This record gives sequence, C-alpha cells and structure tokens, in this order.
Amino acid sequence: MKLLENKVALVTGASRGIGRGIALRFAEEGAHVAFTYLSSEQKARELEAELAAYGVKARGYHSDAAIFASAEALVNQVLTDFGDLHIVVNNAGITKDGLLMRMSEEQWDTVIQTNLKSVFNLTKAAIRPMLKNKQGVFINMSSVVGGGGNAGQANYAASKAGIEGFTKSVAQELGSRNIRSNAIAPGFIETEMTGELNEEVRKQWAEQIPLKRGGTTTDVANVAVFLASDLSAYVTGQVINVCGGMRT
Ligand code: NAP
Repeated sequence: MKLLENKVALVTGASRGIGRGIALRFAEEGAHVAFTYLSSEQKARELEAELAAYGVKARGYHSDAAIFASAEALVNQVLTDFGDLHIVVNNAGITKDGLLMRMSEEQWDTVIQTNLKSVFNLTKAAIRPMLKNKQGVFINMSSVVGGGGNAGQANYAASKAGIEGFTKSVAQELGSRNIRSNAIAPGFIETEMTGELNEEVRKQWAEQIPLKRGGTTTDVANVAVFLASDLSAYVTGQVINVCGGMRT
C-alpha cells in the first residue's frame, strides 16, 4: 500500500524546485496531484505528463497565490476536477532580498503578499471541504531564516516567521476537527531560488552545514510525504527543519 493512495493533494508553486519535487514524490506514493504555477506554463505541462506517468490524475492550474479571490476559485476548480481535497501544500514563495536600509516598500509588500498572505488565502479556501471530510492536512513551506533571521532578508524572514505562527494557530483551531497543520523549514536546498546566489555565498553555506552539502528537493519532499501521510497522524503544530543540521 502506498502512503498517499487515493488522496488528493494541491501543491502551490510546483512548476519548479521544491514544489515540483513534492508533487513528484506525492504521485509516486499514489496521490492525485493538483498544482499551481505562475509563469512557467511549459514546465507545468511537462510536470503534468511526468505525474500522470505514475498512474495518478494530475493537473496544473495557472493561479497567483498572492490573490485572495484566486484561491477560492482554485479550490472550487480542483473540487470539480478531482472530486475531493485532502492535502494542501502552501509552497509558492519568492525572495526580493536587500538590506533594510535599501529595501523598498514594494520589495516588502510583494514578499509578504506572495509568501504569507498566500498561505492565509488558500488555507481559508481549503478549510471548507476539509471540515466536510472531517480530515485534512496543511503543510506550509517556511525556511530556517523564519526562526533565525537573516541579514538582507528582513522581508522574507518576516514572511516565514509569520507562516510558522499561522501554522501553529491553525493546528490549535482545527485539531479537534482532525485537520493537521505543520510547517517545513528547509535550509539550503539546490533550486533556482538558491541558484541565484553567487558561488562564494553558496560555498559559505555548505561549510556551515554539518552534513556538508546542500539539500535536494527530494530531501524536502520526503518530509512532506511523512507530514501528508498517516505516519504523522499525531504530529500537528510543528515546524520541522530540513537543513542538514545547520545552526540557525
Ligand atoms: P523556486 O525554485 O524559485 O520556485 C518557486 C515556485 O513558486 C515556482 O514554481 C513558481 O512558479 C512559484 N511561484 C512563485 N510566485 C508564485 C505566485 N505568486 N503564485 C503561484 N506560484 C508562484 O523556489 P524553491 O527554492 O523551490 O522554493 C519553494 C519554497 O521553499 C518557497 O516558499 C521558499 O521560500 C522555500 N524555501 C526554499 C529554500 C531553498 O533553499 N531553495 C530554502 C528555504 C525555504 P513559476 O515557475 O510559474 O514562476
């Protein structure tokens, strides 16, 4: 028996990186996968085909996670297409780094809207079918900088710290309804997001990591499988670091 057999999962921002890794691992475990993207149309279509090769239902939706009304429309469409919704992974996220002295209001607002408000948007929209089902799982993508802060990422770190507080609150509000809510805090994971960093910074990161390597998207996806499945039936309101043991 696969761990997510016949579950319906919705993963935001899965056209690339960690979201894509999670979508693939979920499909491998038997989940039907709905996912969103913003600009990578071609990659989304390719992912649909890769997911379908696991024998599950898969569909990518163009949907901006930052927009409240889009989340409601997305959930309604997923329910129409898939018939149910059991697992939501709020993964979509961006960086707009800069030291606070130089950070613009636009840099602040865009990151907060895309990373934090998005989690509120989709959680609100997905609660309804989960309450009806008397079960549900939320997995929200934080970052180690949410707990530890990071120079040059005040906006990003604030958005991730916000996600962690939100995740724990949802766990407390909805635990009695059999709805679990946890966060994953990745460290340095090799994706296009970290690919933007220069070689020197990447080397410095790797040196600080006890396991002496950056993480892979599969490293994060394996923890997402754990949190999405009944293996974690008694785990809620937690933030699980996936960071190779780095100090934060
Ligand atoms: P990535 O490679 O840059 O991919 C970001 C994904 O999010 C893409 O699929 C992108 O879609 C989507 N996206 C961006 N803005 C969106 C929006 N407004 N609406 C819907 N989708 C949107 O990033 P990643 O490294 O995989 O990061 C994924 C998550 O993990 C983020 O929340 C990030 O903060 C977190 N994280 C990453 C690391 C790391 O080391 N990589 C560490 C800690 C936490 P398009 O391709 O269509 O634009």
